[in-house]
Amino acid sequence: MIKEFKDIPSKVPLEQLDMSSFAKDKIRELFRTGRVPTAEAMVDEIILRAVKEGATDLHFEPGESELRIRLGFEGIMKKLVTLPKDISENLANILKTKGSLNAFEKKKAQEGRFSVMIGVHEFDIRMSTLPTMHGERVALRILQKNARVSNIEELGFSKENLDKVRKLLRRPNGLFLVTGPSSSGKSTTVYAAVNDIQSPEKNIITVENPVEYKLDFASQVTTSTDKTFTLVDSLRAILRQNPTIIMLGEIRDAETGTVAAEAALTGSLVLSTMLSGDAIGAIFRMTNLGVPPYWLASTLIGVVHQQLVRKICSSCKEEYTVSPEEHVSVANITSVPKKFFRGKGCDLCEGTGYRGRTAVHEILIINDQIRDLIYQHAPMLRLREAAHTIGFENIFQDAMKKVIAGITSIEELSRALG
Ligand SMILES: [Zn+2]
Repeated sequence: MIKEFKDIPSKVPLEQLDMSSFAKDKIRELFRTGRVPTAEAMVDEIILRAVKEGATDLHFEPGESELRIRLGFEGIMKKLVTLPKDISENLANILKTKGSLNAFEKKKAQEGRFSVMIGVHEFDIRMSTLPTMHGERVALRILQKNARVSNIEELGFSKENLDKVRKLLRRPNGLFLVTGPSSSGKSTTVYAAVNDIQSPEKNIITVENPVEYKLDFASQVTTSTDKTFTLVDSLRAILRQNPTIIMLGEIRDAETGTVAAEAALTGSLVLSTMLSGDAIGAIFRMTNLGVPPYWLASTLIGVVHQQLVRKICSSCKEEYTVSPEEHVSVANITSVPKKFFRGKGCDLCEGTGYRGRTAVHEILIINDQIRDLIYQHAPMLRLREAAHTIGFENIFQDAMKKVIAGITSIEELSRALG
């Protein structure tokens, strides 16, 4: 639970309204007779609980007879409360009104945004709705405004990987990509990277929508949602302002990708994020988006690919002997010891055995040989071979080192990396 929010009192006893308790009929009766807090109060309480628990996501999922409300922690879901289905539409309407969505439109997916103050902290909430057969499913993504930018040393990079990243960041120009699946902490890494190299003599400009962290050392540009000032417009304008470092929210299409490459070619260090399954795959994703291989070859300097894994709870961590099957399944990745670690489960980790998360990484550095291969549009296999000759270690190898060090478990490695 987040410490600074723990003193904010709860106004609605959600636990007493939980349908997964034994008193289902009693709870239905409370709702039927209106002896429950208003839907507004319930929405406020649910958001407060999510913030208190440090959730990154909040999902309202209507089923046949119940509305399941769950918290998300960078991809891991946990139940908050289950309420009677009847209240589902009311709660969705309140959320849609908050997010300036059309409350009457229930057949189409919509996207919106609102902010809430909790204590002295402001949270930016991005919401999306999805019509399902049992009603509208609403997903909220919770971002704390003015949150502290992480130090790059806190992000779980191994010493070797941190050295590689810092070497890349010292380059005067080029395109530096952070890739991973959604909710893998990509933008946290990019912000930490910019923070690591910022200095008063550099001209740093960021462009994104919305601004996730406020930086006092950078000019931050927000693009408009109504397409009047797009990412591409803003990038072209930024290039006229002689930037040293440009941080770009996310590369999603050919135009952004090409303008990012163009910016890197004109002498700036450009940092951005992109969805990708692995570091080498990012090259193919860029060219598949339509970024010309010669543009990419002349600008890309490196790719950091990452994924989040849960950390073993330090209060209930125990050593155990690996079963022969488990040993065989991981032995082909690296030489492994006979003992691993896991969390037994305790009060502090709510019985899960995990507390907190860290990232696992793979880092591709583009040397002349790989640059040539990108230029020639060479197949993935040849790129892989070339990467391995310069000591490229894949994300499994990094994760395995964290398993051996007792930071995460072998089960978590399989869950996160498949
Ligand atoms: Zn524990």
